[in-house]
Amino acid sequence: MMRFLFLLIFCACITSVCGQTAPGVSYALAHYRSRILTDIHYDLAFHLPAEKETPVQGEERLVFHLATSVGEPLLLDFKAPAEALYRVRVNGRSVQPVITKEHLALPADLLHAGTDTVELGFVAGNSALNRNSDFLYTLLVPDRARTLFPCWDQPDLKAVFTLMLTAPAGWTVMGNAPLEDSTAMGDSCRYRFKPADKIPTYLFSFVAGKWSSTTRTVDGRPMRFLYRETDSTKLRLSLDSIFRIEGQALHFMQGYTGIAYPFQKLDIVAVPDFQFGGMEHVGAILFKASSLFLDSGATREQFIGRSNLLSHETAHMWFGDLVTMTWFNDVWMKEVFANFMADKISNITLPDGNYDLKFLVDHYPAAYSVDRTAGTNPIRQDLDNLQDAGSLYGNIIYNKAPIVMRQLELLVGADAFQHGLRDYLQGHRYGNAGWPDLLQALQKYTKVDLAAWNAVWVDGKGRPVLSIQSEGDKDGIDYRIVQQGEDGSDRLWPQVFTTAMIYRDHIDTLSVSTDARVMYLARADGKPLPELGLPDFNGYGYGLFSLDPHFTHWLLEDGMGRLGPVTRAAAYINLYENMLDGKAVTPVQLLAFDRQALTREPEELDLNLLLDQLGSIYWRFLTPAERKAVGPGLETDLWQTMLRVPAGNEKKLLFRTYGNIVLSKEGEDRLYAIWKDQHPPEGVKLSEDDYTGLAAALALRERPGYTDILREQGERIQNSDRKARWQYLQAALSADTAVRDRFFASLQDPVARRKEAWVLTALSYLHHPLRTAYSEKYLAASLDWLQDIQHTGDVFIPQSWLAASFGYYQTAGAAKIVTDFLERHPDYNPKLKAKILQATDNLFRVQKIVK
Ligand SMILES: [Zn+2]
Repeated sequence: MMRFLFLLIFCACITSVCGQTAPGVSYALAHYRSRILTDIHYDLAFHLPAEKETPVQGEERLVFHLATSVGEPLLLDFKAPAEALYRVRVNGRSVQPVITKEHLALPADLLHAGTDTVELGFVAGNSALNRNSDFLYTLLVPDRARTLFPCWDQPDLKAVFTLMLTAPAGWTVMGNAPLEDSTAMGDSCRYRFKPADKIPTYLFSFVAGKWSSTTRTVDGRPMRFLYRETDSTKLRLSLDSIFRIEGQALHFMQGYTGIAYPFQKLDIVAVPDFQFGGMEHVGAILFKASSLFLDSGATREQFIGRSNLLSHETAHMWFGDLVTMTWFNDVWMKEVFANFMADKISNITLPDGNYDLKFLVDHYPAAYSVDRTAGTNPIRQDLDNLQDAGSLYGNIIYNKAPIVMRQLELLVGADAFQHGLRDYLQGHRYGNAGWPDLLQALQKYTKVDLAAWNAVWVDGKGRPVLSIQSEGDKDGIDYRIVQQGEDGSDRLWPQVFTTAMIYRDHIDTLSVSTDARVMYLARADGKPLPELGLPDFNGYGYGLFSLDPHFTHWLLEDGMGRLGPVTRAAAYINLYENMLDGKAVTPVQLLAFDRQALTREPEELDLNLLLDQLGSIYWRFLTPAERKAVGPGLETDLWQTMLRVPAGNEKKLLFRTYGNIVLSKEGEDRLYAIWKDQHPPEGVKLSEDDYTGLAAALALRERPGYTDILREQGERIQNSDRKARWQYLQAALSADTAVRDRFFASLQDPVARRKEAWVLTALSYLHHPLRTAYSEKYLAASLDWLQDIQHTGDVFIPQSWLAASFGYYQTAGAAKIVTDFLERHPDYNPKLKAKILQATDNLFRVQKIVK
């Protein structure tokens, strides 16, 4: 609807688009430019100084084809202070360099239909350069290329970039394209890269600085890997796996899509404290270093996470990079297909894994964490201006969308689905396309009405409540599943899953297709009433499944031994959802259940799920008095189970949870002794990061002498990046409230927030559940700054900031801060408001379900 409106008013808008500039890149401006601009070439030169405070100078030669002469100035995007632009020449004629509302207006009378050339001299903005003392990397998604250099910063104006970098001698550089040549020039070196493949501005990238480098042949092509990790154990245990997974991912993607790797080269970089998991820059993919380098103490979840991450970014080379969304409202498409492919690839890279179980624990809890809230959003959202694109990202596109896509694949069939995807990629390669284009490609291969399916799953938000109703006597039973929107609506969510009728001596499973409000399960005719109905048996169902209040009792007495790991995981997830809904089980009851179940759960991923839930209930949904009552017994259970279970990974998960919930003096002493002697419990492997976490845990508990612990931990850390991070975190760990107050106040300055991964860890310390009583006073400012945080930070920061700030509050006072803020700002940016409602959902649920 929104989109249609835009088109209608477009003609009337042309003057205002060009004449009255507005900040950002509006849809109307982008649409206008994409109609008149083609054959765009950026020749870019950046001069990178050794000192991170010295500005980066840039020169640009922009050549393009204009379809028609223009009656109004043509806007280039450049979000920079006025003095940053010092030279502009249009077709050889000098122009006064003026930046108005983040744009540079190219005079219409100097442009002409055909090929035009613009030459620019400028100071590159620092905000997307991620400058550290001896390395930097660009991160321009979704619309931050315009902070680095003047450009048309929209995904459907793909261009050829030719890059030249001048960097201090001894630095390593990497760009989207292979290196053409390099020239030593005294204490610096000039690198010229070949013209890159045609890419959108958000995928333009370079990396420079002091890096270690390894090159190997992967799936028949050379792949270079840059990293700064210095831990020889991590390197020894990780390098082979990283290259192997990359090779398997490439091989799978080429086979599945039928399209050979479509770009000139593929290199990878492990960035310390990278603000995302990874970023799919063509030819030079960036990854969060700590997700790639694992040691022998890594858990199964970490191995799966690494495989998924490498596969996800590799899959983007086709989904997102080769075919790019036309506008960022369809950013979810590249994310869902990257995740969808990653799930398939991890099935190959981790062959011992249970695909359905991994899928379930990876995606369902995260999807529900947003979709159950009042702030949830559809998978596909409108976007008026690219400057708001960051607010589109979140668990709905990363985790609900893969679930929905798996359902779509089930619905149309795996072969038809693959054919549709291949047609879509082939038809739009090196170009742009949107969701309607893919639906069209798929519709060719199926009779399913995709439009109706799309309306509820992709354009709609929220989830259904699915409950079993049954009655019967000896002549037969009536067994049915009823669906209704969680919001009370009568919408239908068509999906396919398996439900189960549980009898004393066997389990009957029935396939359910939820195409009506009431599903009468015909196959149930003639059966006796079951002991219990289990609505979601195979873990494919999406929604809030109402559970029988006796369910936890049955699981512990009988069920855990009779159900497989996927069904158990689905049961644990659904129990948690029921608790949040105030039904079937209270927080205290569910914690008691988790506590017993974890002592018997044999599957690592299921155990991990139980422990995550337990930690969440313990800190979020128990009152401090309840915590005090159950704490000592819980600590004993976790410790004893840890000693008893045979597998090292499970021991580690249990130890980690123990360290998370410890409140007793005895437990604290135990953690201190382990940290001090670096002597972990038998069979548990602890890395430097684990000891850093222990030191932080002891500081948060304000153990006497904690400052010495923090100092000593700092001395133990050898890697310079991790040392700098630890230094930064000291203020947030301090027991001195004045130090913490000053630190929090400093975060108002965008420069202080630049290292987002550090900021988020610091926030988790400031707002640790043991400190919420003191830190509640930070919440109002945390909301007041949110809009500025969105405009100055990377895409995930608004929601991460909110989650790290509000995650553990329980009081009515904290809830009131949120409601007051929303009342005071009735016209607040709706997408940001939704993020607030998502992040504070638990806080409001606590008011209802914790008595
Ligand atoms: Zn992605």
